[in-house]
Amino acid sequence: MSVAPGGAGEQGGAEGAVARREELAAALRRLDDRVAAACAAAGRGRDEVGVVVTTKTWPASDVLHLAALGVRDVGEARAQEAGAKREEVLATGGPGTGDLRWHALGRLQRNKAGAVAAWASLVHSCDSERLAAALDRGAGAAGRVLPVLVQVDLDGDEGDEARGGVPVPGLPAVVDAVAAAGSLRLDGVMAVAPRGADPAAAFARLADAAARVRADHPGATVLSAGMSDDLEQAVAAGATLLRVGRAVLGARPPLG
Ligand SMILES: *Cc1c(COP(=O)(O)O)cnc(C)c1O
Repeated sequence: MSVAPGGAGEQGGAEGAVARREELAAALRRLDDRVAAACAAAGRGRDEVGVVVTTKTWPASDVLHLAALGVRDVGEARAQEAGAKREEVLATGGPGTGDLRWHALGRLQRNKAGAVAAWASLVHSCDSERLAAALDRGAGAAGRVLPVLVQVDLDGDEGDEARGGVPVPGLPAVVDAVAAAGSLRLDGVMAVAPRGADPAAAFARLADAAARVRADHPGATVLSAGMSDDLEQAVAAGATLLRVGRAVLGARPPLG
């Protein structure tokens, strides 16, 4: 699917692109209303909460629409998809694309850490000392300091391998490893509410863990929590960064 500016080559392509952009614009307005209401309900300022629009599985054309609509933070979960999509988006030079911050979410293999360290504005999913070391090497090789969140596994001992995260008792070791790494900057913590659990209770545990991290590392102020179905609970628990996919882009196409 091509929506290069003026790329009305395909039959119906331009009309489809206009319709998609309007759909995304409306979804962004609805999301903004929801976030504003959640902030008001929690007695927090709207400017305390950022939104990363999670574009995994969606084409580069959607990222172009989002950038043109003023979105500045996009999130990707799979390293290969993210790298290719980012190149495709940047190559268009479309409005807003140069200002995009690309967030790396989701399980990250150590052998992909070098590539991700070269482009990620923020890695949300560091969950081991070995991954921290791999990210540190990658960032060093790229000549940059990479902002990192440590992902917390809120499942307790029923840890979800697929989602990743370090169980709360192991958090200090990974946090300290990130903080000590010369090419990493510890920005805070991230979590996904466990499936089937009460998100408010899960995010309360996360907020507690985050407060303990901040006691040792005052700069670790980012709390990445809350998705399409539980962003209100996350805002109430103090989230500073929401990661929202389906509420903006719709139901995800099947993983390719
Ligand atoms: C896909 C994804 C999201 C967005 O989830 P939605 O339910 O689509 O809002 C958030 N965080 C992570 C880590 C994800 O992989």
